[in-house]
Amino acid sequence: MKKISILGATGSIGKSTLDLIERSPNAFEVEALTAAVNVTALAEAARRTNAKLAVIADDSRLAELSDALSGSGCRAASGSNALVEAATGDADLVMAAIVGCAGLKPTMAAVEAGKTVALANKEALVTAGGLMMTAAESNGTALLPVDSEHNAIFQCLAGSDGKGVSRIILTASGGPFWTATADQLREATPEQAVAHPKWNMGAKISVDSATLMNKGLELIEAHYLFGLPSNQIDVLIHPQSVVHSLVEFMDGSVLAQLGSPDMRIPIAYALAWPERMETPAQRLDLAAVARLDFEQPDLDRFPALRLARAAMEEGGSAPAVLNAANEVAVASFLNGRIRFTEIPRLVERALEENRRAAPDTIEEVFEIDGDVRRAVAGAVEEMCA
Ligand code: NAD
Ligand code: MG
Repeated sequence: MKKISILGATGSIGKSTLDLIERSPNAFEVEALTAAVNVTALAEAARRTNAKLAVIADDSRLAELSDALSGSGCRAASGSNALVEAATGDADLVMAAIVGCAGLKPTMAAVEAGKTVALANKEALVTAGGLMMTAAESNGTALLPVDSEHNAIFQCLAGSDGKGVSRIILTASGGPFWTATADQLREATPEQAVAHPKWNMGAKISVDSATLMNKGLELIEAHYLFGLPSNQIDVLIHPQSVVHSLVEFMDGSVLAQLGSPDMRIPIAYALAWPERMETPAQRLDLAAVARLDFEQPDLDRFPALRLARAAMEEGGSAPAVLNAANEVAVASFLNGRIRFTEIPRLVERALEENRRAAPDTIEEVFEIDGDVRRAVAGAVEEMCA
């Protein structure tokens, strides 16, 4: 029995993880589950899976959570320290599936505790990539990428020990606005942006997919996970979302991982690693897919991808600045306060105005994150005034 804790159990990745675990009750045991605010969903999942600990991030909801769990044998806790406790407790594997920099502290704690970490929370790696990879190495932590592209690359690299790689190619669906004109992008609504053509995901990553910032964050994620420089990481638009990414080796061989677009496939790979497990994911029917298209991304209509690559090349604090500005800009767009096309503009301005040395500790990452959030929130206020 593998003991699993899920950080962000009520989200899209968290629910898919629970779905797989509940289909294999003899293989997995649930230690801890966490959520931001949704007490009902958290308590239901904890009861169903006989979790030992349930953590709600929002302290004001602890009493409600305790009530919802009474008689279940599951302990209720709240707040930032309890999230860290969930990440470092008795689990063998921690699924890091909180969205945003909010997941950094518990994810880093799991890495430092030497847990096997299934990493969905890409923002944690983008903001503190150097620190997290160093911590993983010194604690002997296996960091298993759950993001479908990175999971694909991880699968393609199995057996090669990372040797002989000349280039990796991240595929991108292009999101809901791939064929939109510049005018249509200006008028894009939150409803249109979260309606992704291929993947059903949380609101924040859906907007990131629409701006292509998601692919930008993934460039930085790949840079840290696989230790490759910018000129060895390419992006290709692939609207069918069947080829999840590719690795080109020095001899000209190219390996790819394919599958239907269902996050349960990469999640299962991480849960069962180094073995494999069954999933209910639809089998790939290539004759039905019939064709696979690939094209270069358009950096004029989707400047977020250009900004992210520049931040990756600059290094230092730039990836953390990019991420913080993007989180505030996306939230402001979802709240109807700014236009879709203002998201990359706010990020670009934040990158220009905030340049600092590379953070040496995660406290420094949080300082940068907090400062940039305040600055971008101020910029949004000015725009709305
Ligand atoms: P989601 O919004 O559906 O779920 C987020 C989870 O995090 C929820 O359980 C929520 O309660 C928790 N959370 C949010 N804010 C929190 C806070 N301040 N403190 C503690 N917990 C908090 O998001 P998602 O789509 O499941 O994505 C989760 C992560 O996985 C993101 O980093 C995303 O980029 C990455 N990811 C998601 C997908 C996908 O298909 N959904 C694919 C690849 C990568
Ligand atoms: Mg992805």
